[in-house]
Amino acid sequence: MKRLILLGGGHAHVHVLEALGRQPIPGCEVLLVSPFERQIYSGMLPGWISGHYTIEACGLNLPQLAQRAGVRFVHAAGETLDATGRCLTCNDGTRLEFDLLSIDTGSRSSIEAIGGAAQHALPVRPIETFIAGIEALLARCREARDQPVAIIGGGVAAVELAFAIHYRLASEGHSRVALQVIGDAGLPLDGLASSLQWKCLEMLNERGIHWHAGSRVVELTGQHAVLDDGTRIPAGHALLVTGAGAPEWPRASGLAVDGRGFIQVGRSLESVSHRGIFAAGDVAAYADARPKSGVYAVRAGPPLAANLRRAAAGETLAEWRPQRRALYLIATGDRHALGAWGPFGWWGRWVWRWKDRIDRGFMRRFGNPHVG
Ligand SMILES: Cc1cc2nc3c(=O)[nH]c(=O)nc-3n(C[C@H](O)[C@H](O)[C@H](O)COP(=O)(O)OP(=O)(O)OC[C@H]3O[C@@H](n4cnc5c(N)ncnc54)[C@H](O)[C@@H]3O)c2cc1C
Repeated sequence: MKRLILLGGGHAHVHVLEALGRQPIPGCEVLLVSPFERQIYSGMLPGWISGHYTIEACGLNLPQLAQRAGVRFVHAAGETLDATGRCLTCNDGTRLEFDLLSIDTGSRSSIEAIGGAAQHALPVRPIETFIAGIEALLARCREARDQPVAIIGGGVAAVELAFAIHYRLASEGHSRVALQVIGDAGLPLDGLASSLQWKCLEMLNERGIHWHAGSRVVELTGQHAVLDDGTRIPAGHALLVTGAGAPEWPRASGLAVDGRGFIQVGRSLESVSHRGIFAAGDVAAYADARPKSGVYAVRAGPPLAANLRRAAAGETLAEWRPQRRALYLIATGDRHALGAWGPFGWWGRWVWRWKDRIDRGFMRRFGNPHVG
């Protein structure tokens, strides 16, 4: 009997679990290793902060998905990996040997890149820590209304969180809390359609959310965000939503990683250095480089599932080329959203309804009974 370990219950692995539920791999024991019993769908997280969804509606039940797939759920985090010795050690000391390993553990917040961030900022990842911390941060905002909030990072997640927090505080009558987004690009949503970037800036301005362009935060003091040119921006509270960073353990595992520490995989999603070890989602550095985004994690699921089956059977792996462009639907708090596809941008309430339908459909597909 071969053993396949699915490490992490990320967006690609929920597809693998679904595929295993439809058709098990003969002669293969499958384990899912996850430190949390639920997998939060980040696309709906800003809607939870805004009050449009319950947190139960935003999570997938991993033990249940595993059970339906005939997979054993191991409630632990992978801590160290011996890629050559084919052994994963978990944070509870459990040692799990494997024939095949698939890694979908996501990215982490690069907290060490900013001095004082560990003490003075709430990082967006791990998402469960963020969920536990955001209500306390909002409570502090309501109490100390003169303390501005800094959202550090100017990408999709930073902008969505800024709009969501603004909407939540305003709907509770706390619209005087000063919110600011500090990004190192000229406009928010760097890399997306320029019409959308300008619209986003206009909407931030309309809501009184200040956009600090071309600003790189190097230190947080608890009172200020200090920029690399020495400018001090008042910031009593801070959220860290800068780009995705790699976890430490892949580099130490012997797996080939790219310059940032993400696991290098070929077009089959198999490690370029170790046969039988696969990676997908944010933790992977794809052969065709793509941004770290949920779209590419979700899309990797079906080809990953097919190649894990082929690997177990000793068959030749198939190649996968991620799509060049991804659809971004960005919630702006008030049941309105911005949409982008390559050079095209749209916005409106209909975009929110579209996004809401897609998100709820995704959750329903994977058995969430709370999405309505
Ligand atoms: C607020 C917010 C909004 C976003 N909006 C969008 C959007 O609109 N569109 C978009 O494309 N992207 C969006 N993103 C980015 C998107 O969330 C990520 O790209 C996506 O989650 C990556 O999926 P993944 O499967 O790689 O990892 P994840 O979704 O992070 O899942 C990884 C899983 O692995 C688990 N895990 C971590 N470490 C270990 C370990 N050592 N052992 C075992 N398990 C482990 C985690 O608990 C988690 O369950 C957003 C992100 C945020 C934070």
